[in-house]
Amino acid sequence: MDVNFPSIQSFYSRELQPSSQGTSDGLSKSQKPGDGFTSSEVEAVLDPLSRPWKPSRHYETCPISLLETGPHNYQISGRIVNFADNFRDQGFHFLVVTDGSGAIAVKVYYIKVSDYQLLLGRRVTIWTTFIGDSTGASSGSIPFCSSTTTLYPGRNGATHIIVHNDDPGSDGDRILRCPLECNLKEYEYLPALMTLKSFLSTGYDLGEGKILVCVRSVGPRRTVQSKKTQQTLEMVEVGIFDDTATCVLKLWEGKVPSAKSWVPNETILLISKPTYKNRGTSPELGIGFSSMVDVNPMFPDADWLRNKVKSMAKKQSVYIPFPSNTWDTERAINGPDRTLFTIADVEDRVRHPESIVDFTGKMNVVILEMKLMEHWRKGTLCYLECCNMPLYSNKPVAICKNCELKRDLVLNQRIIGSMVDESGMIAANKLVWRDGAWTQLFFGSAADETQEVDSEPDLIEQSWEDLTTLGTESLRYMEEFLLYSRVTLTFGWSSQPEKVCVLGVEW
Ligand SMILES: [Zn+2]
Repeated sequence: MDVNFPSIQSFYSRELQPSSQGTSDGLSKSQKPGDGFTSSEVEAVLDPLSRPWKPSRHYETCPISLLETGPHNYQISGRIVNFADNFRDQGFHFLVVTDGSGAIAVKVYYIKVSDYQLLLGRRVTIWTTFIGDSTGASSGSIPFCSSTTTLYPGRNGATHIIVHNDDPGSDGDRILRCPLECNLKEYEYLPALMTLKSFLSTGYDLGEGKILVCVRSVGPRRTVQSKKTQQTLEMVEVGIFDDTATCVLKLWEGKVPSAKSWVPNETILLISKPTYKNRGTSPELGIGFSSMVDVNPMFPDADWLRNKVKSMAKKQSVYIPFPSNTWDTERAINGPDRTLFTIADVEDRVRHPESIVDFTGKMNVVILEMKLMEHWRKGTLCYLECCNMPLYSNKPVAICKNCELKRDLVLNQRIIGSMVDESGMIAANKLVWRDGAWTQLFFGSAADETQEVDSEPDLIEQSWEDLTTLGTESLRYMEEFLLYSRVTLTFGWSSQPEKVCVLGVEW
């Protein structure tokens, strides 16, 4: 429907402006017909959803499970657990909304297809005047979906929907997160909930299974040519996992934007009746017509998975940034208080991290094990953590596969295996290095020979990043040169991040 002509008069005046392209802009400026309507009245017709929703009658607030079929004025709150935007090109969005008590299928006839940003997990409030029965309708096959309703927002004054965009942590963000069939008062288990591993092995066959997973990665948005219809389709691959297995969840078309705000190792999804496909290589899950997706649900199993993921991530966490504002590096290296510690001294002192203050000192150690070549061959010379995932490369910059941002990497501290002194050994991967200390380790000995007076050699010309430009021969030479070398480390111990940090290296 063309809604550019707000009144009868303007409708008739149309033929007088053959050169006008019929844009509302053209009408409003020079050829405004002056039909007596105020601009806000015109705006209300052109964009009815811009008006604040002020219902003229009373709507009863009601949980979805208690909705009665027939004409009733109900105000319903819930979250979107499935949807199809512009359902089969029929001019409406099809939504499945739950509030934990039940589910309702909602048809939203839109004026502009882009009027609503539909995302899985979004909270909605619905005002409706009629509840239909789902039995017999296609939505009847959706679990717990026994009622339906149809909304004409902006067209009649009696039905409306607001898709809320709640701020994280706000009241609206917290509510309505209890999944269906979950009695929080006497919670024992969620019916049909299974591990990802058992769903992938046989559970998908039952057709009723639910999985509780955490997002592991969100791939880039891709366009794919459909073999059947020759259409180009948008798709995103979401890596998901629990403590038993990992898998790929594919989202298509209108559901692709839902994944944009999902955070790896943080966002939890409860998916009931996911679709299952296995084209021989690895299984893929999807969201079908009768699937439901609860985003960040609140119930005991989800809390358990959240904690599990946290402890798994802590174990895997590889990157700890150097705490650059903790110490005065120059003072620690050249200042008056330069205590020499043994490895055993340091271990003794940091055994009770809560009771000690940050301190610095020197250690004289021999490098016992080098893994430079090993990491170079594996492509893990440099690393960083982005989007809660490790990012590796032999180059000092890399693009995160998840957010597609270019990131500056640091040198992987695991290129040194271990260091010893007469009192003990320190696994070098436990250290956190300052960039400048790496440069002193790799290029400092040569610089020292020429500038004996200056104990911090001028290394501006050289940096550890030069290491990444070397070929195999030079790297092997570097590795052999450093192995069994004796160096003095200026270190700092910090309770945050509870690590021994290397501030400088002297030869
Ligand atoms: Zn990233």
